[in-house]
Amino acid sequence: MQSEPQSCDVIVVGGGPSGSTAAALLAEKGHKVILLEKERFPRYHVGESLMPFCYFTLERLGVLERMEEHAFVKKHSVQFITKDGRISAPFYFFQHLDHPAATTWQVERSVFDEMLLRNAEERGAEVREETQVRNFTFDGDCVTGVVARGQDGGDYSLQAPVTLDCTGREALFLRKKKWRRRDPQLNKISIWTLFKGAKRDEGLDEGATTVAYLDGRGWFWNIPLRDDIVSSGIVAERDYLYRDTRDLQEIYEREIEENSWIKEHLAAGEQFGEYWVTGEYSYRGEHCASDGLLMAGDAFAFLDPVFSSGVFLALKSGEMAADAISGALEAGDVSAGQFLAYGEKLCQMIEVMRKLVYAFYDKDFSFAKLIKKHEEIRPMLTDCLIGDLDGKDYKPLAEAMSGLVSLPEPLGHGRVPQSVK
Ligand SMILES: Cc1cc2nc3c(=O)[nH]c(=O)nc-3n(C[C@H](O)[C@H](O)[C@H](O)COP(=O)(O)OP(=O)(O)OC[C@H]3O[C@@H](n4cnc5c(N)ncnc54)[C@H](O)[C@@H]3O)c2cc1C
Repeated sequence: MQSEPQSCDVIVVGGGPSGSTAAALLAEKGHKVILLEKERFPRYHVGESLMPFCYFTLERLGVLERMEEHAFVKKHSVQFITKDGRISAPFYFFQHLDHPAATTWQVERSVFDEMLLRNAEERGAEVREETQVRNFTFDGDCVTGVVARGQDGGDYSLQAPVTLDCTGREALFLRKKKWRRRDPQLNKISIWTLFKGAKRDEGLDEGATTVAYLDGRGWFWNIPLRDDIVSSGIVAERDYLYRDTRDLQEIYEREIEENSWIKEHLAAGEQFGEYWVTGEYSYRGEHCASDGLLMAGDAFAFLDPVFSSGVFLALKSGEMAADAISGALEAGDVSAGQFLAYGEKLCQMIEVMRKLVYAFYDKDFSFAKLIKKHEEIRPMLTDCLIGDLDGKDYKPLAEAMSGLVSLPEPLGHGRVPQSVK
């Protein structure tokens, strides 16, 4: 370990969408930012389907033109397919939103994430790839920086008034503090892979995200990408998927038979590459901040892939974290109390989506039933599905849904520690 620690204003740990967003915006505001990323980009990452409201953070980051240059597949809608292959009326975003944001994208995350990381660099953040943060340093309870292992294999320490943890599902600070709490009921597992040459729908639906049900036990996603590639995944209970084998390919091939739309669409294509699996994944941190530290994106919470809210929440929380940190630095106070409003707003946004996710997994619920009973709620439901979550009151939607299913109480944890309130 070198003796003289280096220093900056903000250390960002992790260069996914949340970390790159925060680093770019903080550097643009004139703060000295060092971003530490353990991989060398481009690197593979799951989570290709964006939500329309990603647009506004991407606009603030100044990357909309680059999104067009990459010519990612355009996503106009999300559609739901029953087990026997029937399509419910797709949610076309443009029917609800008269704005360029109504068309969003299906992105290869290797390309998208690298674009955002280089953007952070161009805006003045120092990016150190192949640098893994191994620990945090403290003065009492206050985080003062990190210990990182660089490309040469040596450990060094880096200090800053604020550290932003954007380590994704590794959730470094939550793990170190034992603050990672699983969602009581969600916790599905997922297996996914890629196909080339699978059947595509036509016209506007060509780039749609498809959610295809597995008889109340789970669902498939079908996300069309560039170069005739499709990201295909299953989400379901662990016991259901592992009921007669643990071989991922066998499980996949068995489940394809369970949904006729998926079967027909994938039959034309060829699977390639790995089968990936992730364990029970829904969690939220006990807190989102500590003195001298904030968390954003999956490093704080992950809900469920079903409504493609992950990247949106990563971008949005990265943006909110940059504003909160900048305010704290200007105020000369980086205690957790400075991040109260950040935690409050982020938890509120997650809770809105969480209710929708719980309803989705309830066998008594369907969007068709909800709309049939409450046609007037359709615009509000669509607002939610496009990610228009900031500062909106979704109580009427929750009330309408609770006529069909029982919805969860908001989780009591996630905000800043009680002691600083
Ligand atoms: C099965 C599945 C399917 C999904 N599908 C979708 C989808 O279709 N649409 C969607 O919007 N979301 C989806 N998601 C969620 C989405 O992938 C995440 O929400 C999103 O990637 C979070 O971004 P992030 O920046 O917080 O973290 P990440 O994108 O995970 O980035 C974290 C970065 O931190 C780095 N890192 C980790 N630990 C360290 C360390 N110690 N030191 C230095 N660097 C470190 C990692 O290398 C990584 O680059 C899905 C998730 C799962 C599990």
